[in-house]
Amino acid sequence: MYLLYLDGSGSVQNPTEKHFVLAGICVFERQIYHLITETDKFVSSLNLGGVHDVELHGSVIANGKRSPWKGMGRKERLKVIDLGLGLLRDAHWGVRAFAVAVDKHAKPLSDPVEYAFEEICNRFNHFLSRLWRNGEGQHRGLIVMDNSHYEQALQRLARRFREDGTRWGALANLAEVPLFVDSTASRLIQISDLLAWAVWRRYEHSDTRYFDKIVGRFDKEGGVMHGLVHRKPSTEECHCPACLTRSAIKDSK
Ligand SMILES: [Zn+2]
Repeated sequence: MYLLYLDGSGSVQNPTEKHFVLAGICVFERQIYHLITETDKFVSSLNLGGVHDVELHGSVIANGKRSPWKGMGRKERLKVIDLGLGLLRDAHWGVRAFAVAVDKHAKPLSDPVEYAFEEICNRFNHFLSRLWRNGEGQHRGLIVMDNSHYEQALQRLARRFREDGTRWGALANLAEVPLFVDSTASRLIQISDLLAWAVWRRYEHSDTRYFDKIVGRFDKEGGVMHGLVHRKPSTEECHCPACLTRSAIKDSK
């Protein structure tokens, strides 16, 4: 079984923010323990107190307003995020990243969270289908989400996921409705949060420092990047890896 740990970055309500990002890391069941252990070791090396009391949360570390990040210099805090993303970059080759970056001005777009959720579920499902097609086994997928962000919207979607057979019927490889967990208790949700933050910085602030570190992790096959989606207004030109992949596919048709 493959688990996709999802978390979001950016505010849907805040009109001063242009983007919402939903991102996740996809981990095979036997690799979970290793990645959690590596993350715990990293957190322990920071010497910020009890290892299980310290949560890696991109925006909280970046703004430094809360303990244990309060009092730590900005450069040092950003280094923590950078090293945290290094855990994903250096993880087992089978660990893959998925992300959907939504420009809230894209039309037609009724709900950025809904769009991102549906798109990332489809990408995960296609990844599992591809493994089967390529003779790498028939694996089921399970989505695990942080319950503290966008909780209401995502729980509503999770319910629809269960009830609306037509819409979600195509997601044949998913074993269950998404499960909600507390991010403080899940290191892999925390890594997904850092990933979402890095993608959000890339699109919201054109800050590619963190994104570049993990861009090689997005699910891809034969040079086509399936794991990253950028939904933008159709009139805007964009040269991000997701848009370049889309235009390369269009040109080849
Ligand atoms: Zn783009």
